[in-house]
Amino acid sequence: MLPAVAIDHKHIPRIFKDDGSIQLWSRPLTLQKFFLQQNLKTLICLTGFVLAGCAGQNSAAVQVAPIKVCDQARVVLSFDDSSVDDWYASRDIFTRYNVKATFFVSRFGKKILRSSDATLLNKLTVLRDDGHEIGYHSTSHKNAKLLSQQGVSWKQYYQKEIAPDLALLRQHGFAPQTFAYPFGAEVPAFTKQLKQHFSRVRGFTTEMEGKKYFKNYQKYRDPFLQMAFSIDSHRLNFAELALVLDELHSSCGTLILASHKIVDRPATDSKARYRGVWAITRADLATVIEMVQARNIRMVTFNQLI
Ligand SMILES: [Zn+2]
Repeated sequence: MLPAVAIDHKHIPRIFKDDGSIQLWSRPLTLQKFFLQQNLKTLICLTGFVLAGCAGQNSAAVQVAPIKVCDQARVVLSFDDSSVDDWYASRDIFTRYNVKATFFVSRFGKKILRSSDATLLNKLTVLRDDGHEIGYHSTSHKNAKLLSQQGVSWKQYYQKEIAPDLALLRQHGFAPQTFAYPFGAEVPAFTKQLKQHFSRVRGFTTEMEGKKYFKNYQKYRDPFLQMAFSIDSHRLNFAELALVLDELHSSCGTLILASHKIVDRPATDSKARYRGVWAITRADLATVIEMVQARNIRMVTFNQLI
């Protein structure tokens, strides 16, 4: 903050008089008229400087400071399913950028516990100990929306898709606080019930274009239910992501990014199509993180969202 005397010493003319009125500098008449408009103070306040006079207070000591850019914008980086090997192999990226991710685990009992040795379980434990969040992604990755349309009740869904692996995870030292719907297929009636078990739930928006995402973003601002924006390779578009991040920054919003596997390079053969499509490359992941951090947007885990 610069006191008025310091501003004078730097030959910067004071904008407000001691009584709070606007100084009429030797400017062309039209500019003086412009300065006299009532919204001048607001204009100045919004264009890079905060002045003591902005609040309409006594401005005997006019103070200037850089305006504070929104520091409430947040980005969550999340990965779904059970690709523990890939996630673990990318610890160097998370460490390099000091980013904590959220891993939503599904098929914990079937895939992770039943791997040939304890490797996957140990790797998931290390990721948790690194400070990453281990969230929950259901027991067998069924589509809740389809099940609901087929008449499956919340109670049945809970017994088959929530309770079993949630208990297993807890038995093995994990304490999932958040849940991500498989396929992002959200069921409002189930979401209400999930509030009893989780602090926050993640869905998936069907709007994958940046502009559309943000057009619909407002309706996804329920703090409990948040919709993710895909950064899987078949959907990742850096121009759209830049647009969304810029909008996020100016609106002090929250953005949930979601992917699955983390791979060295996109798959080219048809056999590896799944691996190539539902994945992000290590290089693209690093670029995404750099884009977020270049805007000074904090990256937090899903459970850390305010
Ligand atoms: Zn999934």
